[in-house]
Amino acid sequence: MDRVDCVVIGAGVIGLAVARKLAQAGREVIVLEEAEAIGTITSSRNSEVIHAGIYYRAGSWMARMCVDGKHALYRYCGERGIPHKNCGKLIVATSPQETAKLQSIKAHAEANGVLDMQLLTGEAARALEPALACDAALLSPSTGIIDSHAYMLSLRGEAEEAGAAFAFHTPLIRAKAANGLIEIDAGGEAPMTLQCSLLVNAAGLSATNVARNIDGMPLDRIPRAYLAKGNYFSCNAKAPFSRLIYPVPEPGGLGVHLTLDMAGQARFGPDVEWIETIDYEVDPSRAERFYPAIRKYWPTLPDGALMPSYSGIRPKIVPPAVATQDFLMQGPRDHGVAGLINLFGIESPGLTSSLAIADHVAELADI
Ligand SMILES: Cc1cc2nc3c(=O)[nH]c(=O)nc-3n(C[C@H](O)[C@H](O)[C@H](O)COP(=O)(O)OP(=O)(O)OC[C@H]3O[C@@H](n4cnc5c(N)ncnc54)[C@H](O)[C@@H]3O)c2cc1C
Repeated sequence: MDRVDCVVIGAGVIGLAVARKLAQAGREVIVLEEAEAIGTITSSRNSEVIHAGIYYRAGSWMARMCVDGKHALYRYCGERGIPHKNCGKLIVATSPQETAKLQSIKAHAEANGVLDMQLLTGEAARALEPALACDAALLSPSTGIIDSHAYMLSLRGEAEEAGAAFAFHTPLIRAKAANGLIEIDAGGEAPMTLQCSLLVNAAGLSATNVARNIDGMPLDRIPRAYLAKGNYFSCNAKAPFSRLIYPVPEPGGLGVHLTLDMAGQARFGPDVEWIETIDYEVDPSRAERFYPAIRKYWPTLPDGALMPSYSGIRPKIVPPAVATQDFLMQGPRDHGVAGLINLFGIESPGLTSSLAIADHVAELADI
């Protein structure tokens, strides 16, 4: 049986950041990925927003990883010329009740270490974005956008330069933890059996399944998985905004917001649709709910402008009735299995947090 120091399951943005971190720390690393390429699942089905860290519960992993990860990501992209834009975001209030909430959103952001938020009158917001309808707004200058694929290619390149190897079409089928080592059966075109001293489960939507297939992993430490799909609509009219536009959040979601890709193309979403099985089809009739919501802040959105686009699925570990979840990152001290790290529930802001999550994995592995 082949012996390797570290195995990372999954070549999404998290597995890539972890592989780079471990390889640069001098560890021998192999990444097993069941798909044909890097970043084909949730890491290519998101908004590509560098989040500021505004809404997450103070002290949560999401709040800490997002703020640390944001700074690290801007630095990483800046140093390597990875396409990104620190375009900023406006949270817009379109009623007196919503205006009253802006101050508490600002205070919440400050508790998370986001200290640059600015309250704007409707007039001041329109000076920035003339097409905007709003009573008042909150400007988040540190929000931005990123070419996530260029970022992932860079992570892969740096991991390989530091010696990491990648095996595609190679799903983990099962593993067995015993005597401080983990034995892995991988399937696919070239099935193999490997023994490693560190296994990082970064399998995204499949992370709970992967954990269940590890003999020795206590089942009561594996959360139940739920799927919350987010549907996007593109816009065939030119959106007259240069910043991201978000309504004041509503219970259960961030509301129908506008994000921009690196080419300046607007998209709306993601909404929240709880589903039982993975299905990425976007139901065109969901546009009916998007139009009135968008017209609150962009009244001149033309009829027929919204086109079904793509969707992504949030790897939830809490049921619909629970409003918020946190990243669940388990090391040996949490579940008792030597050499195993599980990353569960890495939904948004996982992309923003990726470098900080990789640092945390290194801490969990005592590196
Ligand atoms: C709708 C939506 C919008 C989002 N928007 C943002 C945003 O704007 N900003 C932000 O910061 N975050 C955002 N996120 C979150 C971000 O996209 C995710 O946190 C991140 O992509 C998760 O990466 P990952 O590597 O954990 O998972 P994935 O990208 O899903 O990668 C997991 C990999 O594991 C592989 N795999 C699974 N099972 C096995 C197995 N048995 N063996 C081998 N390989 C396996 C899969 O093929 C996959 O490649 C969003 C998420 C969603 C759903």
